[in-house]
Amino acid sequence: DAGLEKTKTNFFEQLSKAVVGKNTVDEAVLDDLETLLVHADVGIDTTVKVIDRIEARVARDKYVNTSELDRILREEIVALLEDNKSGSTAVLDRAGSTGQPYVIMVVGVNGVGKTTTIGKLAHRFHSAGKTVVLGAADTFRAAAVDQLIIWGQRVGVPVVSHGMNTDPASVAYDAVQKGVEMGADVVIIDTAGRLHNKVNLMNELSKIKRVMQKVIPDAPHEVLLVLDGSTGQNAFLQAKEFTKATEVTALAITKLDGTARGGVVIGISDQFNIPVRYIGVGEKMTDLQLFDRHTFVNSLFK
Ligand code: GDP
Repeated sequence: DAGLEKTKTNFFEQLSKAVVGKNTVDEAVLDDLETLLVHADVGIDTTVKVIDRIEARVARDKYVNTSELDRILREEIVALLEDNKSGSTAVLDRAGSTGQPYVIMVVGVNGVGKTTTIGKLAHRFHSAGKTVVLGAADTFRAAAVDQLIIWGQRVGVPVVSHGMNTDPASVAYDAVQKGVEMGADVVIIDTAGRLHNKVNLMNELSKIKRVMQKVIPDAPHEVLLVLDGSTGQNAFLQAKEFTKATEVTALAITKLDGTARGGVVIGISDQFNIPVRYIGVGEKMTDLQLFDRHTFVNSLFK
């Protein structure tokens, strides 16, 4: 998997170094593995869980050969991800199945790749034959509105926009309304992510929700939080703040092509118990993958 090559190579090389000259998985090997996982941004809580699971296995099997360590590591991480909700159903399969547009509200701070992810998602749905409407409700930055319009043109889907500094809730309302009028399958709403003002953020997101519910009572069907996978602990902090501000139902983790720290995906989905739906592996329209825990863990630790 080309997109995740960097993450994979680094982890694999380091793991091999950690076990070189050793036959059996002992305390020292587990210590090294623990350090490796923390450096890969798995996060301390999740790392401890993974190490505990491997320790339990070593205790049970008495003797575990180091040559088996990466297989065991993979199995235990997949098992851990199975324990929480990170196994996901593709939104694509559900979109348009209810007769109403499937509304996705996209949240996240500036610079994480929110607009790009929306563009990629629009492309994904559009090329699967779905009708898509975008709503430019990140009215706080002129660039955000312009960029979304460019993405709309690139993909070939309409963008509802009232320009900069207009009421985001009103944009969201009109976009959902347009989706209904067009008989669209999916409506994707961009929002502003101003974390430095938590009360405003919370109010703005709940107002956007309230207003779209006047058109479709159970909207939004998905609140997708976009996180930059290369920012490690910052991504954890953002997840913490956004889950406090609104009910996040899924994650998209971007920029995993340029980082050796893909472990953040495991840590965040475990810690927040929110499914990772998509991963971003580049800047192009097609550089968005549906997250699958088996594929992901295999490409990380192969
Ligand atoms: P926003 O401010 O959150 O809307 O961020 P943008 O969508 O404008 O993205 C910020 C930068 O990150 C742009 O240069 C994007 O091309 C880049 N970007 C977004 N997603 C990815 C990704 O998955 N991989 C890489 N390498 N770059 C990305």
